[in-house]
Amino acid sequence: MLIDASTIPGWDRTADVIVAGFGMAGACAAIEASESGASVLIVEAAAGSGGTSAIATGHFYLGGGTPVQKACGFEDSPEDMAAYLMAASVDPEPERIALYAKSSVDHFAWLERQGIPFERSYFPSKAVAQPGTECLIWTGNEKVAPFRDVAHPAPRGHKVAVSDPETGGGRAMQVLTRRTEDLGVEALYGHRVTALVLEDGRVVGVRCLAAGQVTYLRAMGGVVLTTGGFGQNERLLSKHLPDLMSEHVVRIADANDLGQGIELGIAAGAATRHMDGAFISTYWYPPEKLINGIIVNSKGERFVPEDSYHARTAGQILAQPDRRAWLIVDSESFDWPLYGKSLGIDLVDGWEDVASMERDLGMPEGALQKTIADYSAAAAEGKDPLGKNPEWLRPFDDGPYAAFDLSFGSASYRAFTLGGLVVTLEGEVLREDGTTIEGLYAAGSCATNLAQEGLSYASGLCLGTASFFGRKTGASVACRAVTARSEN
Ligand SMILES: Cc1cc2nc3c(=O)[nH]c(=O)nc-3n(C[C@H](O)[C@H](O)[C@H](O)COP(=O)(O)OP(=O)(O)OC[C@H]3O[C@@H](n4cnc5c(N)ncnc54)[C@H](O)[C@@H]3O)c2cc1C
Repeated sequence: MLIDASTIPGWDRTADVIVAGFGMAGACAAIEASESGASVLIVEAAAGSGGTSAIATGHFYLGGGTPVQKACGFEDSPEDMAAYLMAASVDPEPERIALYAKSSVDHFAWLERQGIPFERSYFPSKAVAQPGTECLIWTGNEKVAPFRDVAHPAPRGHKVAVSDPETGGGRAMQVLTRRTEDLGVEALYGHRVTALVLEDGRVVGVRCLAAGQVTYLRAMGGVVLTTGGFGQNERLLSKHLPDLMSEHVVRIADANDLGQGIELGIAAGAATRHMDGAFISTYWYPPEKLINGIIVNSKGERFVPEDSYHARTAGQILAQPDRRAWLIVDSESFDWPLYGKSLGIDLVDGWEDVASMERDLGMPEGALQKTIADYSAAAAEGKDPLGKNPEWLRPFDDGPYAAFDLSFGSASYRAFTLGGLVVTLEGEVLREDGTTIEGLYAAGSCATNLAQEGLSYASGLCLGTASFFGRKTGASVACRAVTARSEN
């Protein structure tokens, strides 16, 4: 994986900046590097651009007062956005968060300038993704306890305006790919980066494999790894995220999500973080009516405000005894989970009374009855011990009742990885001792990010940070390359 430059037969191509991987982070790095005056070569293993970014829904987590937030009547500020992200993150990086929040409005403008379409519209219901072209949606836990008391809540999920909700990431990638072509950036498709080439400890290029042929590409300024996560790398998964190997988990990532960039970085001495962090979730809502229900564990106890973002709820389910949990609804809140069939969220049964339901679900006698009685008494006063938002609170006393099984191993969970190489705000790859690996940069899912694990995840954080830090990284490598060129 590491080759000394003195041992290679020669360079086949040379560019200021070599970008390995043409997803969201790679596209944005290439555009900025090119606009900064650098020559850029993108090396992509697949036959075209896109990666996991092209199968993403297309939410970008942006705020601080974007034109969409303003047009839809929401107040937000960089300070509130940063305060929320600081509170929600398990391992917050204050400078990264502050920079992202402060730059968010400008970054939104940049995305629009590239040609990515965003409507000035708001989707008010709680959903995994808005069904149409609507832009703004709540995609995190901003209105959820305890976060709503930390920062003024605002919706920050900005979705690309596409009528098929599954194609937002694809549309964004189409636009960005066209933009790189317009800038004259060359992409070598079907070229897999298999090694880093070093000279005196500095990364000076890559070795690629394309249709059985080996080529060596020289990078005058640096190599940017934007090869995505490791959702398809069983070796890394078994070490860091064995849950994702379960038959009950569908790893939703592109086939090239092989963690190759992460492994190349590690081979060069890079530190990693949050390798055990993943987005892992089962989508039990919409319809949002179900949020009026309660979620209980095998002891018949609630453990999460049910209005939490679904990945936060899923993370809490994984922490319950035997990872078992049920969504309990009464006749008023009953509905069929939209993704219930595809995710195996089964209706266990219906019951006339809570005592029978409690017995059939194998819970301790009286436990669920107490939980429901306490919940209903508090809800009648508009209160909830777990802080569920009053908009979802209703006394829960209208039988018959039903239970949907959300347990891990019963329902199917969807997952992708979040950890990666430790990088500076400029994308320089760091060793454990904090020193930089000269010539090596990373962004997107193969680098550490604001998205660290499922409990604090908000939809849009991956595309948002891949695009923003991809840009910053591209600009910083280009700047070094251009400066070095002018000095020689
Ligand atoms: C179904 C789904 C929906 C999602 N929806 C959202 C959403 O709405 N909002 C959000 O923020 N996040 C979403 N995500 C997560 C998000 O899509 C990813 O985190 C993000 O796309 C990662 O971007 P990237 O540029 O880092 O990697 P990618 O887009 O995966 O790009 C990496 C590229 O590198 C290439 N590559 C890999 N190895 C090599 C190699 N050795 N040499 C050369 N090329 C290589 C790959 O082929 C690929 O093209 C979703 C994920 C899934 C699966």
